[in-house]
Amino acid sequence: MAHVAAIGKALEGRGEVRVDVNQAWSESEAIWAARRLAEAGVTLIEQPIAAENHAGLERLTKLAQVPIMADEALHGPADAFALAGAQAADVFAVKIAQSGGLSGAAQVAAIAAAANIDLYGGTMLEGAVGTIASAQLFSTFSALKWGTELFGPLLLTEEILTEPLRYEQFSLQLPQGPGLGITLDWNKIERLRRDSTQGASIITS
Ligand SMILES: [Mg+2]
Repeated sequence: MAHVAAIGKALEGRGEVRVDVNQAWSESEAIWAARRLAEAGVTLIEQPIAAENHAGLERLTKLAQVPIMADEALHGPADAFALAGAQAADVFAVKIAQSGGLSGAAQVAAIAAAANIDLYGGTMLEGAVGTIASAQLFSTFSALKWGTELFGPLLLTEEILTEPLRYEQFSLQLPQGPGLGITLDWNKIERLRRDSTQGASIITS
């Protein structure tokens, strides 16, 4: 708590602090922490408790200390419907991989919109293809109130596009080509694929 509060203080007026607890707290720890995080000016708490504890998430959301975002609790439209029906989150982290693909993620977003739940564009740290597919889907949402974090490609050392995605001023620059706007470099993909002749010989030797 002290560490987060100190970061918040140092950033005052220049940025905001959100925390992703990744399910680490019990519900009672989350109740204790939410009040202190609210006092420290933290703007969002992501998945404070276990993914399967929807009732706990609902209680924390209704405590209304700091907005609560569902991440690991949200694996596609069925979870979205259950969480929305119980008003068990203020924000959904939409991720295409975690939602079962583009269509599942679009349905999660539609359920959120119908239930007045805000959206955040999440990532499972996909490479270029998943990242730009996410960007394309997110661009169809009427609002993405909590922004997005499509930085997966920046963490990778190998590129599979003929032209890498461009990041400038902390933003992903949207490619202007048709479709997803990217072109795969098939030579690189051949070299990287695990079922290639080269890969197979490594596995069997
Ligand atoms: Mg998370």
